[in-house]
This record gives sequence, C-alpha cells and structure tokens, in this order.
Amino acid sequence: MTRTIAPEKTDEDLFEASLRPRALKDYVGQEKAKGNLGLFIDAARGRSEALDHVLLYGPPGLGKTTLANIIACEMGVNIKSTSGPVIERPGDLAAILTNLEQHDVLFIDEIHRLSHVVEEILYPAMEDFQLDIIIGQGPSARTIKLDLPKFTLVGATTRAGLLSSPLRDRFGVISRLEFYSHEELAFIVTRSARILGMEIEENGAMELARRSRGTPRIANRLLRRVRDFAQVRADGIITQKVADEALSLLEIDEMGFDHMDRMILLTIIDKFGGGPVGLDTIAAAISEESDTIEDVYEPFLIQNGFLNRTPRGRVATPAAYRHFNRIAPEPPQGRLF
Ligand code: ADP
Repeated sequence: MTRTIAPEKTDEDLFEASLRPRALKDYVGQEKAKGNLGLFIDAARGRSEALDHVLLYGPPGLGKTTLANIIACEMGVNIKSTSGPVIERPGDLAAILTNLEQHDVLFIDEIHRLSHVVEEILYPAMEDFQLDIIIGQGPSARTIKLDLPKFTLVGATTRAGLLSSPLRDRFGVISRLEFYSHEELAFIVTRSARILGMEIEENGAMELARRSRGTPRIANRLLRRVRDFAQVRADGIITQKVADEALSLLEIDEMGFDHMDRMILLTIIDKFGGGPVGLDTIAAAISEESDTIEDVYEPFLIQNGFLNRTPRGRVATPAAYRHFNRIAPEPPQGRLF
C-alpha cells in the first residue's frame, strides 16, 4: 500500500519531475548544503575540473535527487542515474562507469545498498579514476586497469551511518539535508501550484505546509490530492478551509500524522506502557519493516519531540501522550539512597 504521505518514490515520479527545480537558486531552503555546494561548484568550474564526489543524506523526499540533478545542471554536464539495488554485479557498474564522459555526474540513489563486491570496484574508480577488471579465471586470471574519465559521484542515502567507512571516506563533500520549515514548504507549494495552473491562497498553502511533515515530496503530493477535492467540492480555489477539509478527509491530522504515525505512537503508548520498546517489537506489532519505520517515519517523530530513541528502545514522550489525549504515566521517583 502506498500512503498519500509516503515519502518513498512511486509512479507519481513523472508528476514530481515536472515540479523539480532545475537551478540552485530555485532550490528552496537547505541553506547550509546549498552554500557549500555553490562554492565547490564555482571553484570546480573555475578550474575546469570535475566536482569532488558528493554524499547527500537525509530522510526520503527532502530533495537529494533534485539536488543531484541541479549539480549536473550547474556544472553543465550530463547526469546518469541509478540506484544501489539495481547494480547487482561488478560488470553492471563497470558498464556504467565506462560510458561516462569527462566531468559527468553519476548519481547512485540508496548507495548504502550496494553489494560489497560492487563497492570494491567503486573505491579505485572514485580515488584514481581507474577500473580494475579481472579477466579469466583461476591461475590464468589477470587484472587489467582501465582509465576512466574524471567524473563526480553523487551518492544519496537515508542515513550516512549506513555506509561503510571506506566508502564514506572517499566523498569530499558530505551534506545532510534537513526537514523544511513551514514557510519554506508554503513557498514550495505555492510555486508548484503556479506550475500546475492552480489557484491557492496564502493560508491554504500554509495549512498544507504545516501538515506535510517537513517534506517537499509530501507537500507536493498533498497539493495534488487537495486540488482534486477543491475541484469537486469547492470552486477550484485552495483556501485554508478547503485544505483543512481535504486533509481531514485523508485522515492527516493537524501535526501531519497519518494512519501509520498514529499506529506507531499509539502502539508504544497503549500496548507497551509508553516504552521503552525495541524497534523490531514495534515493527512486528504493526506489521511494518523495521527499516521503513527507522528511515521513513521515525526521523520526523523524533525531531518534533514525539518519540525518543534510548539504548533500551523507543519511548513515547509526554508530547505524544498530549497529542492523543492520553495521560502520561508519572516519571519514576528518583531513589534517595
Ligand atoms: P529525495 O531524492 O531526497 O527522496 P527528491 O529530490 O526526489 O527527494 O524530491 C522530492 C520532490 O520534492 C521533488 O519532486 C521536488 O519537486 C520537491 N523538492 C525537493 N526539494 C525541493 C526544494 N529544495 N525546493 C523545491 N522543491 C523541492
């Protein structure tokens, strides 16, 4: 099942592509990452060199793919896109690498999912722009070295910690993408509405922004759903009231939580006394993958103070109890002796 606010990619990719900003100046927010990259891009262009390898990390839907495309655009080079799980064998990666042109960008999404053998091919490619190929088998096997064009690898991952350290160390630029503020999301939604030829009031954009979990992909998806509602139920204009009614109908509450967020928090509160409870236990209780909970749902809940990660497991915070009108248990009394 795909959630309306699921940040992972679906067949809505075409819709997303139409809304993707193409230049760094149109990329909203992420001032730190943008500032760094802008500087490195200018420097590399000034020296007519390839940009250093870039690692982008952060929860899904925050703009890693968009930024990779912008980097290529700003550098005036081509981009080839692939993803970790798609590159199954070393030969697959060798084929991609040997097809690159000077200074091209190679974008590998979900780079933490590269297999170990494929990763080993990447090390000399990133460091010395060389490909070590083994020809033949057994005693007659020999290694030949192929020179590769100087390229820029842009890797994306949900968590930098998922990468092996030899791979992480080979990136010259490492940028973490942050959740967006309501104002930034309202700006993105207003821009998207303009591109899609929709009318949206300032309050309507803000309502959507507040309920988009700090994530542009979710904001754009919600805009699409609210547009349908506005067309059928209202006169096509997205006001705050229209946005509120449409989002309530989609069961997205005032914090932007959907069914899955509520399940996670309420399972911890109602079934496990508020925690601490292990991630795998929560995953089993709600029939969801642990990785998905950890990468997709948890970051926003943790950042906004609804969930704590402790060495003994996940804990629902007093804010979570308040949100669901539950009474939080008394904190344990400190022992005097
Ligand atoms: P990720 O690769 O991190 O999962 P994407 O780059 O695919 O995320 O972004 C998802 C969508 O959100 C894109 O279609 C794009 O339209 C929008 N988006 C992401 N970041 C921005 C931004 N900084 N400014 C405007 N739109 C953005």
